[in-house]
Amino acid sequence: MVVVMEERASEDQIQRVVAQLVQMGFDVHRSTGSLRTVIGAVGGQTKGDPRLVEALDGVHEVMRITEPFKLASRTFKPEDTVITVRDLRIGGDEVIVMAGPCSAESEAQVMSTAAAVKRAGAKVLRGGAFKPRSSPYSFQGLGEQGLQMLRVAADAHHLALVSEVMDASQIAMMVPYVDILQVGARNMQNYTLLRELGRLRTPVLLKRGISATIEEWLLSAEYILAGGNMDVMLCERGIRTFESYTRNTLDISAIPVVKKLSHLPILVDPSHGTGRRDKVAPMARAAVAAGADGLLIEVHCDPDQAMSDGAQSMFPGQFDRLMAELRIIAPAIGRSICLEPVARRGWGSE
Ligand code: PEP
Ligand code: MN
Repeated sequence: MVVVMEERASEDQIQRVVAQLVQMGFDVHRSTGSLRTVIGAVGGQTKGDPRLVEALDGVHEVMRITEPFKLASRTFKPEDTVITVRDLRIGGDEVIVMAGPCSAESEAQVMSTAAAVKRAGAKVLRGGAFKPRSSPYSFQGLGEQGLQMLRVAADAHHLALVSEVMDASQIAMMVPYVDILQVGARNMQNYTLLRELGRLRTPVLLKRGISATIEEWLLSAEYILAGGNMDVMLCERGIRTFESYTRNTLDISAIPVVKKLSHLPILVDPSHGTGRRDKVAPMARAAVAAGADGLLIEVHCDPDQAMSDGAQSMFPGQFDRLMAELRIIAPAIGRSICLEPVARRGWGSE
């Protein structure tokens, strides 16, 4: 960190700052200009809290020069992380689209949606079995029965499966069913859950919290990485702002910001990001154009009857059109995407 002293800071105040930095384990470099003294502090404990220095008399400003997240940072790992999930590579050249219902509701609903998203070119089936609902009276998900339905449908259509884990107690039961464990926005700072996920080797999709800064989000990823699970992908899903036309404000700028700070793949969920199905396609196109490594999209064959998030779920036809548009956008920025809808390639009977 760099500590800029006040113009009128006394020698005693400067010495107090130097002593504090030395105590925190930093190597201290002092530069005395005609107006101010600037103190450079390098090394030191990763846990050193800059606010301890900020609070000292005579300090004008403390600037951190290294990120507080280490394993998630590009400084630690300059090359992009590519996560292998079955035969997929997430974070590589190909933009990976994950799609499916908000919640698993019935065998028929899950199977028909899996067929539709596969036909359009999705590679991963999404679907919730444990639902974090704002109201305790809303549909809470089918639990293990829902996971069984999702796994059967994913296998039937050669799709990988992502589903949300809400609590550490669900992990052991879920792991045999899913290929990727999703951590929802409301759980981004559930550090007990993140630590448990760090002990696994199952890839984790970590959504951004509703009011989380990018730094807080990357620090949450750090909890999982620090446990030894290096397969973490981030997912921007909109943050709460003062704007009320959309359910959340989808932060497209998070994509280039994260790409610069971190080597982890970043996906975008334009469904929760906007809350309205007519806004999903434009934001999905924007996300791919801005460099997202993948998308997470809610699709339902009969969204008006959906048990959760029907208003933001796309009809299969809309999703199919979106995929056709993405096939134009992705190559324009040097990325690939499932080249043609499966039906046109004549793969199987799906
Ligand atoms: C979901 O993906 O269905 C979900 C609940 O998302 P979020 O955690 O982003 O609200
Ligand atoms: Mn949802």
